[in-house]
Amino acid sequence: MDEEPTNRPKDEPPGTEFPSAETLEDLVRNIARVRERIAAAALRAGREADDIRLLPVSKTVPEDRLRLAVQAGCHLLGENKVQEAHRKSENLADLDVAWSVIGHLQTNKAKLVAGFASEFQALDSLRVAEALDRRLQAAGRSLDVFVQVNTSAEDSKYGLPPGEVPAFLARLPRYGALKVKGLMTLALFTSDTERVRECFVLLRTIRDRARQDVPDGIGLEELSMGMSGDYEIAIEEGATVVRVGQAIFGRRPTSDSRYWPSTP
Ligand SMILES: *Cc1c(COP(=O)(O)O)cnc(C)c1O
Repeated sequence: MDEEPTNRPKDEPPGTEFPSAETLEDLVRNIARVRERIAAAALRAGREADDIRLLPVSKTVPEDRLRLAVQAGCHLLGENKVQEAHRKSENLADLDVAWSVIGHLQTNKAKLVAGFASEFQALDSLRVAEALDRRLQAAGRSLDVFVQVNTSAEDSKYGLPPGEVPAFLARLPRYGALKVKGLMTLALFTSDTERVRECFVLLRTIRDRARQDVPDGIGLEELSMGMSGDYEIAIEEGATVVRVGQAIFGRRPTSDSRYWPSTP
């Protein structure tokens, strides 16, 4: 039998094509496929699939399709840009859905995040920690946070250098409204899977070391790592949260350089 025709570009390995998702059925199917692959990766690693949270990433996806995603069972959605996340949270306020902000935050947007988000995964400065904490205290809220680490040594990525993580964690207990859950990273953008894996191994190693003298009240159970192209590798290396957009919602038309400025 002939091979199935495919639109996949030649330099992409099988499995990295992203089926589009226009209808509820499409979304249900894509989510089920991702969950199957999560379960298979967990099995390979001797882990429980239930210990891995799938965070659907909905940036650029229009609100009508997000309504379908909620119907398909997505009750926490990840967004990179604060304003887009906030707008969607307002327009979908009638639905049972919470918002995770997974992109870089400037202090002048801390008030917005403190008002609507239930999770923030990209904490990498004390100024932002301080601004968020102040706004959260004022609002009588708390926020789950992940500390973002730059494991790829690329200037274009946000996140703390690995060596600064322990000292940073030591200063977080003073921000009582921030509930620190763990660490987050983006791997190197390359088709060289061994170099991708090294980023995930590094995040786990940083976490394991930091655990030895982590201050009271700072949780390091969670490792948020892995996206559509590499979440199975991340699971093999210990991810407890995978942030998956395109494998659920279809290929994004916009370039990723919008989210990771100055990517070469
Ligand atoms: C967009 C994004 C993802 C998901 O990327 P996909 O390729 O759509 O799976 C994960 N993490 C962050 C920080 C993102 O901005």
